[in-house]
Amino acid sequence: MPERVAFIGLGNMGYPMAKQLVDGGVEVAGYDVDPNRSGAFARHAGGKKVESVEQAVRQSDIVITMLPGSKLVEETIGSAKNALTRGALLIDMTSGIPMVTRRLADFLNPVGISIIDAPVSGGVARAQTGDLSIMTGGDPADCGRADPLLRLMGSTITHVGALGAGQAMKALNNLVSAGGFLIGVEALLIGKRFGLEPSKMVDVFNTSTGMNNSTQKKLRQFVLSRTFNAGFSLELMVKDLSIALEIARDGDATAPFSALCREMWSGASKSLGPGADHTAMAVFSEQLAGMALA
Ligand code: NAD
Repeated sequence: MPERVAFIGLGNMGYPMAKQLVDGGVEVAGYDVDPNRSGAFARHAGGKKVESVEQAVRQSDIVITMLPGSKLVEETIGSAKNALTRGALLIDMTSGIPMVTRRLADFLNPVGISIIDAPVSGGVARAQTGDLSIMTGGDPADCGRADPLLRLMGSTITHVGALGAGQAMKALNNLVSAGGFLIGVEALLIGKRFGLEPSKMVDVFNTSTGMNNSTQKKLRQFVLSRTFNAGFSLELMVKDLSIALEIARDGDATAPFSALCREMWSGASKSLGPGADHTAMAVFSEQLAGMALA
């Protein structure tokens, strides 16, 4: 593993992903705008402590970004442009906006920096075990260069197309995931009013054709338990759904259910406020239904 890595954004996902790299023998300079996170990464995960983005990227062949959104990636990398090494590769693992990533490429390519997008799916649990699903977009040679690092963080790496294609795929994956969650909760509410037991309903979904990732991994664990702490925020889910809808609009694709789905999640985010986990979406559905599941 010859390359030195700068990892920017050590949040719920970035921290365990960067730790997988360290555990795989990679030298990782980890930076987060929150000094507590950078400090914890150096103290507890074996990362190299750095004080700024510039310091992190200065001696790195590979820069990985795992930030809340594309605008932050653009600003952060833009501010550190002069410290980037010519020939370096930026791997943007953020669930981002394809058009913004392409604009960033137009800015970086002329100064000898390549970029691919490599967003992930699987949540915090799979980030901690290096078992993420990673979808890449960009030049195949650049994706090949990233591959050994990506394999330390994910068990499935799928190249889906040109730069930005990974991020489009990621947004559409979360559209499917968000729709599955929403309809799962709605079915539980309808069933409870009818007299069915929600916990038993989840059991039946999971042995029947109604099964999806939410019925398997979220409804019992985070909704019926009332813990609402899956580690993926409601705000970030709304961002992903907005990207999916933007892609539909840019392509003039008819997407009525996607629009309704985004509106529901966006309404929940406004109603529940900042900091809510995405699984708290169920509380908004409960409010609309005028009843609670538990
Ligand atoms: P998070 O909010 O937990 O982490 C983001 C981190 O970025 C924070 O620690 C924050 O301090 C840091 N940060 C913000 N601005 C910065 C800057 N300018 N420089 C350096 N650090 C900065 O979010 P997360 O859940 O880890 O999500 C990160 C990305 O991964 C998002 O794009 C999200 O959509 C995506 N994602 C999240 C999950 C999940 O389950 N949480 C799953 C798949 C993809």
